[in-house]
Amino acid sequence: MTHYYMPTEIFFGSDALQKGKTRLLSLGSKAFIVTGKNSARLSGALDDIIDILKPAKIPWRHFDEIEENPTIPMITHGAEELNKFQADYIIAIGGGSPLDAAKAISAGAANNLRGNDVTNADMIQKTFPLACVPITAGTGSEVTQYSVLTDPKTGKKGGFGTSNMFSRLSLLDPIYTLSMPETLTRDTAIDALSHLLEGIYSLRRSSILNPMIYKGMKLIYHHLVPCLKEPANMEHREQLMRASLYGGMAIAQSGTTLQHSIGYPLTTHLGMSHGLANGVVMKMIMDLYWPVLKTELEPVFAGLGTGRSGFYAWLDSLEMIPANKPDDEFIEKYSAQVLGSRNIANTPVRVTEETIRSIYSSLG
Ligand code: NAP
Ligand code: ZN
Repeated sequence: MTHYYMPTEIFFGSDALQKGKTRLLSLGSKAFIVTGKNSARLSGALDDIIDILKPAKIPWRHFDEIEENPTIPMITHGAEELNKFQADYIIAIGGGSPLDAAKAISAGAANNLRGNDVTNADMIQKTFPLACVPITAGTGSEVTQYSVLTDPKTGKKGGFGTSNMFSRLSLLDPIYTLSMPETLTRDTAIDALSHLLEGIYSLRRSSILNPMIYKGMKLIYHHLVPCLKEPANMEHREQLMRASLYGGMAIAQSGTTLQHSIGYPLTTHLGMSHGLANGVVMKMIMDLYWPVLKTELEPVFAGLGTGRSGFYAWLDSLEMIPANKPDDEFIEKYSAQVLGSRNIANTPVRVTEETIRSIYSSLG
């Protein structure tokens, strides 16, 4: 049995905003725009959205308070502001942080949820129409139903999602990724790669996704290093964004596994970006899963023309070095927390606290 559900309308490619403009304007009559502090402007996407809203006489409120690793209080505040303004739809522009935040703000505002209640999927009965404009090429959040939030009280980061949290419309123009610095380009591409791999790893994997997964992995393998060397080349930017889209479509069906949950404390407590956190453990996770997934993974490497060792050498060439290494206290505290994560249930091998401890220790 295989099942596929992804209700987001997509415009992908050059001029996607103009091409999808009529659909965007059909979402409502008062827009709440969710972004981070700078990059929505820097990338040019915010101006392009405003150039669509203004002539159509759509009033908007710009909420630019989303920081990396969005927190529950940011969401509660955003939901209050949305309701105060009485917006009837949301436009999110950003990397995964503003996109995830917009989904949670939507859930909070539509269902009057405050604080941690917003992460309780059972309480999310309705949402506002959402349009996403990604400006990184990594998370695929524009086509997933997930929002990943951090609770500042516990320091714990985790994802949640419901089928009504998918965006209604996603407008992907790779031009907005040109402003990404080198490290962000690398880390976000590695995040996309980790999503494509999760689509193979997860116990909820679906063979329907394989062509997309294989293609997405090839795109990253062939375009990431050239893109780092030639960051203004639109062909590389476009192919990385396509791979990111495929990665999002994969995890929307398969969910994530230990590959992702083990990275969350590396981000929240050791300051690694989400993509880097996934990247530094990628080989160890693949080693762990290899005995049970050899048959699924071998065709992937055959397609890349590398074999597993060639793929590992390519990963090494990206120099994903953790700036801060986990110490004994970190390992003790977070190994147990990771084992309790929701997505451990999708992991294809039996994982114990000792498994997680040994992966963290090998980073030291
Ligand atoms: P991000 O956290 O949204 O942004 C990281 C930094 O990059 C911010 O400082 C941001 O600036 C800047 N930035 C973003 N786009 C830029 C651009 N085009 N040019 C220059 N700077 C730019 O990064 P992300 O890696 O895209 O998102 C990571 C988050 O997504 C994590 O919290 C992760 O857990 C989550 N995630 C969600 C899903 C999902 O399915 N929902 C999947 C994977 C990951 P500003 O602050 O000014 O915007
Ligand atoms: Zn990810």
